[in-house]
Amino acid sequence: MNRRQFFKLCAGTAATSAIAALGMMPTVAQAATREFKLTSAKETRNNCCYCSVGCGLLMYSRGDVSKNVEASLFHIEGDADHPVSRGRLCPKGAGLLDFVNSPDRLKFPEYRAPGATEWTRITWEDAFKRIARLMKDDRDKNMVAVNEQGTTVNRWLTTGMLTASAQSNEAGFLTQKFARGLGLVAVDTQARI
Ligand code: SF4
Repeated sequence: MNRRQFFKLCAGTAATSAIAALGMMPTVAQAATREFKLTSAKETRNNCCYCSVGCGLLMYSRGDVSKNVEASLFHIEGDADHPVSRGRLCPKGAGLLDFVNSPDRLKFPEYRAPGATEWTRITWEDAFKRIARLMKDDRDKNMVAVNEQGTTVNRWLTTGMLTASAQSNEAGFLTQKFARGLGLVAVDTQARI
């Protein structure tokens, strides 16, 4: 390297450092844009609903519902303070935004009458009443109090229950108490889905 080439190299390095110091390097500029995007958003903590790991989420929405503006969720990322996942999400969790905003997402209970081709939206009250009615009728009809040997078993084998694997320990404990108290044996979660 001759003297002229050396001075050119020094000048180029100094210019690059000055640009970085002014916040004009691409990485610095991108980080600033991202921060600006989230600055006025509402932040909500939640858990990923897909599997039993239960990774923590930070969900960002905009829209002040008090002014008749519909809230919309526009960004989801891992929660760095979550004790389970420490900010990490697998590809399924990282794609949750599409799931939440999907036009095909089921948001309300629906009922399809026998023989009908269309689903009809019903209220949660109607849904709970119908579920309770069907459970009671089936349990009254099929509950097994004693087995062939005369041992008390109190088991109900004709209905199963699918619960949520991302629940807290306390919610899981209550769910088991409820299900086993009814005599249900087939209880599972979506942990292996
Ligand atoms: S699906 Fe992925 S992001 Fe969601 S809880 Fe499971 S491991 Fe975590």
